[in-house]
Amino acid sequence: MNSAEIKDAARSLGADLVGIAPVERFNGMPEASDPRTFAPGTRSVIVIGYRIVRGALRGVEEGTSFFNTYGFFGSEHMEKMYMSRTVYDLACRIENCGAEASPVLSTHSSGNGFVPDFKAYAHAAGLGSVGKGGFFLTPEYGHRQRFGFIFTSLELEGDEVIECDFCRDCDACLKACPLGAYNEDGTLNLTLCRQCQNGAFDKPEQPEKVDRCAAACARACMVALEDKIGNRFENKFRKRSVWERGLHGEALSSGNQFTGGRCPKKFEGK
Ligand code: SF4
Ligand code: SF4
Repeated sequence: MNSAEIKDAARSLGADLVGIAPVERFNGMPEASDPRTFAPGTRSVIVIGYRIVRGALRGVEEGTSFFNTYGFFGSEHMEKMYMSRTVYDLACRIENCGAEASPVLSTHSSGNGFVPDFKAYAHAAGLGSVGKGGFFLTPEYGHRQRFGFIFTSLELEGDEVIECDFCRDCDACLKACPLGAYNEDGTLNLTLCRQCQNGAFDKPEQPEKVDRCAAACARACMVALEDKIGNRFENKFRKRSVWERGLHGEALSSGNQFTGGRCPKKFEGK
């Protein structure tokens, strides 16, 4: 299979995004994340992107439902049931041609020291770049996607690497953090994020140990980018004023304070 055939197959299997990086683009990266550490003989990394539908963030945005909407359809189900199927089926098609294809998901450590760096892989495959808020941003969906990968022995033509220009004159994510977790030097206080009760999800198996995709910072990014990305809607995402919680769950804003608007204890990131 060549690059065009890989992309056609990935899209026919349900991928919203697909990009390819020749493995030489990872020369010099930390050994623990180098695809060749996981699969010696890797010559190309195929990156599959699945959008997170905007509606999957609705329950968190309104403070009315955390797990039913985002927890399943933005996170667990989406990654394990939908995207993993596409990654696996594409790996099968590649192996039918005689090349090895190792399917890898972004949010699960391998348990033996290999630490996938999904942002580096997706960037090298030309799908977008990391923004000021620390999210991986694509021109199509902003921060709303998840990635899976195939490390293959196939030698494939790579996609052009791109740098998104979304963050110029924008600091919406920084301003939206109720806990002040963004440091002045642009780094993030992940200790605070792991305790955040503004839509952050505890993910002990991930390198950062927190999923910020539905948190206040990321939803502010969605709002900031809704007229700039390819995936547009007929009406705005934000319907009501924003609910905010402090470190101990106390209400910080006079915005939408629906009584259910508090992260359930199991998602408090503790
Ligand atoms: S996850 Fe919470 S604490 Fe961390 S940056 Fe986002 S809003 Fe702030
Ligand atoms: S909110 Fe603005 S500054 Fe922050 S990551 Fe998104 S585009 Fe960049």
